[in-house]
Amino acid sequence: MGRVICIANQKGGVGKTTTAVNLAACLALSGHRVLLIDLDPQASATSGLGLKASADRPTTYEVLLSEVPVAEALLSNPDIPGLEVVPATRDLVGAEIELVPLLAREHRLAEAVRPVKHSYAYVLIDCPPSLGLLTLNGLTSADSVLVPVQCEYYALEGLSSLMETVELVRKRLNPALRLEGVVLTMFDSRNTLSREVGEEVRRFFPGQVFQNVIPRNVRVSEAPSHGKPVILYDPDCRGAAAYHSLCQELLAGGPAVESRTEQPSGVEEG
Ligand code: ADP
Ligand code: MG
Repeated sequence: MGRVICIANQKGGVGKTTTAVNLAACLALSGHRVLLIDLDPQASATSGLGLKASADRPTTYEVLLSEVPVAEALLSNPDIPGLEVVPATRDLVGAEIELVPLLAREHRLAEAVRPVKHSYAYVLIDCPPSLGLLTLNGLTSADSVLVPVQCEYYALEGLSSLMETVELVRKRLNPALRLEGVVLTMFDSRNTLSREVGEEVRRFFPGQVFQNVIPRNVRVSEAPSHGKPVILYDPDCRGAAAYHSLCQELLAGGPAVESRTEQPSGVEEG
């Protein structure tokens, strides 16, 4: 209970927010209590769920910088019962710098999440496209990190530095952090490049890539402008089906479970 999953990749436009919003919505609509924390100053998870931070309510910024309790910042969308959101605003840009001189600066979010995490089955964190202090706070708070990878040229570029950062966080800040898995996004099965990138990522992360792949689907990209996850915007489209299946795979234990069961008995990793 209260599993914290940080969705991270320092590359922009790879599907972090889309995955955060749709997984959160799928988990909530399948009966789980979910908290989504928008840790990106672009606030696209907030707006993609049809939410907007108001001036009189705290946001992720105040949770991180002023130690305002998460419970005071929660917003929700009536169409998605069970999902609560800590919204972001542009102010978060400043947090990246304002956090620097603070004591235990990498642990701010973890400390804020600790008192509420047992009220939820899942806490998802949508990270910004950088490996700065915001993402470090996300990784330090989390039980696991989920990495969306776009099936495009240079997909693997940057993944080594992301994995090095995860390793460093594990060593210094959060020993329990593990890789939840890699999700292939914007996959185009008719495109050779997409298939090749998919295979390459699976070689790079053996047994750690989700079987369910998210296809490139125009309905997925339209949904945020209607303030809805795609699973509500067009429940019958391929993108919605893919996020449902991904959610089921996550609930079943994710790719790590499959790789464990595939291992011959007596053989341990590491
Ligand atoms: P990130 O959070 O990593 O920057 P986003 O989730 O915001 O990435 O996605 C980047 C862009 O790609 C957005 O415009 C989004 O709507 C679009 N997009 C994401 N996933 C898909 C998909 N499966 N099919 C089509 N467009 C997508
Ligand atoms: Mg994003």
